[in-house]
Amino acid sequence: MNIVVLVKQVPDSGNPRTLKDSDNTVDRENADLVLNEMDEYAIEEALLIKENQGDGEVTVLSVGPESATDTIRKALQMGADKGVHVTDPAIHGSDAIATAKVIAGALGKLEWDIVISGAESTDGRVTVIPAMLAEITGATQLTSARKLTFEGTEVTAERQVDGGYEVVKGQLPAVISVWDTINEPRYPSFKGIMQAKKKPIDTLALADTGVDAGEVGLENSWSEVIEWAPRPPRQAGQAITDEGDGGVKLVEYLVGQKLI
Ligand SMILES: Cc1cc2nc3c(=O)[nH]c(=O)nc-3n(C[C@H](O)[C@H](O)[C@H](O)COP(=O)(O)OP(=O)(O)OC[C@H]3O[C@@H](n4cnc5c(N)ncnc54)[C@H](O)[C@@H]3O)c2cc1C
Repeated sequence: MNIVVLVKQVPDSGNPRTLKDSDNTVDRENADLVLNEMDEYAIEEALLIKENQGDGEVTVLSVGPESATDTIRKALQMGADKGVHVTDPAIHGSDAIATAKVIAGALGKLEWDIVISGAESTDGRVTVIPAMLAEITGATQLTSARKLTFEGTEVTAERQVDGGYEVVKGQLPAVISVWDTINEPRYPSFKGIMQAKKKPIDTLALADTGVDAGEVGLENSWSEVIEWAPRPPRQAGQAITDEGDGGVKLVEYLVGQKLI
């Protein structure tokens, strides 16, 4: 079974992040860039599927600037077999639709039974790339999985929803997205880190994916961020001193705020 794992490099959500004033895209130059957290679970799940099935290859695919190679390398250190990096200045500023077209173009150059991704990225957080890929490629769509089981060419997913889960089934090939409830990602071992140095990473330009430059980038995207503002700083809280009437003061405060 051949598996492609999608990984995205994102600004570390634990540190300050911002958009660029010049074009309202994510400021990647001044951010601490890391592997999108949810994608670690996708990598782990791909490795577990390969280990359980006993054959096939795990290919890591990322669309992003040159620095995204670090993200691919981390997945190779965890145990993936090879990487594909699509990088081209023309892709900068692409929205989800344009990004999905580029990923689908790159997938067209690979042999795969399963594409597995995180359920969302921590920067764009549009949560639609896997569904768009299933639509473009015509593969089965199984999103938001918290558990996967395989029987022949059939895959069953427990799909995480508010208040519980749904069980959905489909035939391979499938595009699957996973939440962080599905497994516990492994850390790269020393051996894995050394082996990753020799694993191949194929670099593709936009033209190699078969996608026209007129379909991607800030200029050609269907949606764009037109305005943004930083979150306002937290206001100091209001302290209520209990002088025997603390409960009354608290209720008065809540009523004043129209909270009760
Ligand atoms: C503040 C902000 C607002 C935005 N608003 C919009 C908007 O309203 N509409 C819109 O269309 N776009 C928007 N974007 C752009 C969006 O970030 C990009 O389209 C992005 O490449 C795809 O969206 P996502 O990462 O949020 O996808 P998601 O669907 O959240 O990502 C799910 C998974 O898909 C995979 N994946 C996503 N991107 C890549 C990639 N480049 N390479 C490999 N795998 C990938 C990862 O496994 C990821 O875990 C916005 C971006 C920002 C920063």
